[in-house]
Amino acid sequence: MGMRNHEIVPSELVDRIAGLKHGGTYKVLKNLLKYKLLHHDRSKYDGFRLTYLGYDFLAIKTLVNRGVFTGVGRQIGVGKESDIFEVAQEDGTILAMKLHRLGRTSFRAVKSKRDYLRHRSSFSWLYLSRLAALKEFAFMKALQEHDFPVPKAIDCNRHCVIMSLVQGYPMVQVKQLQNPETVFEKIIGIVVRLAEHGLIHCDFNEFNIMIDDEEKITMIDFPQMVSVSHQNAQMYFDRDIECIFKFFRKRFNMTFQEDRDDDDTEVEVDENSRPSFYDITKDANALDRELEASGFTKKEQNDLDKFIEGGLEKSTDSDEDEESDDEEQTFESNEERNLNEMNSLQLQEEEQNRSDEVEAEVELDDNEK
Ligand code: ADP
Ligand code: MG
Repeated sequence: MGMRNHEIVPSELVDRIAGLKHGGTYKVLKNLLKYKLLHHDRSKYDGFRLTYLGYDFLAIKTLVNRGVFTGVGRQIGVGKESDIFEVAQEDGTILAMKLHRLGRTSFRAVKSKRDYLRHRSSFSWLYLSRLAALKEFAFMKALQEHDFPVPKAIDCNRHCVIMSLVQGYPMVQVKQLQNPETVFEKIIGIVVRLAEHGLIHCDFNEFNIMIDDEEKITMIDFPQMVSVSHQNAQMYFDRDIECIFKFFRKRFNMTFQEDRDDDDTEVEVDENSRPSFYDITKDANALDRELEASGFTKKEQNDLDKFIEGGLEKSTDSDEDEESDDEEQTFESNEERNLNEMNSLQLQEEEQNRSDEVEAEVELDDNEK
């Protein structure tokens, strides 16, 4: 509760909110610190903030209390900005739990949006992770309603999304396919149909496409999706398509009309297979009703977009996190020049965010107190 208004919650405030007698707060804090659910900070004043682990505990406790699952199992995935675990329901059904961890490795995004995020605190990372989870949950539901092959969205709390467990593996682990052309066409078909429904995945690659033994495709990982009305929509669309072409070319030796000169290849694909963004009939509002129903507001969308777009400008290659000294210096000198102007803008924005966060946070359930 204290973190709604404070990056580091002053000790006295913790004590006041907790309302425990006889030094009770001190004992509880000591215990929470021991398990690294809190971080003790004395740099400006004596206070505490929640760690990601602490935030995990709160989300898990809420979901367990709601009866969504009863136990947490092994970790099944480590994404760029998430941890994925198996969770079990009472009847033994296994689900997937995705804990969003914005700020963990996304230096690319921090870099491009450093002005926006420069004074952002760890609370803001928690806040942004919560938005990413909410967006992912909302999009998963909406996509499911329109028969896209996505995991079933079960529930969501804080930075945590519960969904069905996808059988199969990420495409990146697959060395051979029975029907590479069919799989290829199915995947390209998904990108096109997404655009028809007004969306671009923006991170559509072999890491975010799951495939099972029957070569059935499931698409995962949606927090960075954008609308087809985004100013860079065509570029993102083409990049998603290019990722798939590149992967199938390299991994499954497929060739396309555009790489014609190479003739001793095993597989040939129709020359018209690269879809053009321009030619697709796009309905930018097709999924709006479902998205609205999931409670992901325009304001939250904006907050998250500001953060995510920094990362989107980059390619999805693995060297994206690297930053050269040159870039850093250019950035710093520009930054100095604009410092005063930016500072005041940031402060305004921070203030705005603070008050919005207070509004946006739902009341704690009784059993969470
Ligand atoms: P990130 O946004 O961090 O990249 P992802 O959603 O792509 O996270 O998940 C990371 C990895 O976890 C995936 O590559 C996949 O192996 C696994 N994973 C994610 N969701 C599921 C799921 N519903 N069922 C099974 N495995 C999953
Ligand atoms: Mg991923």
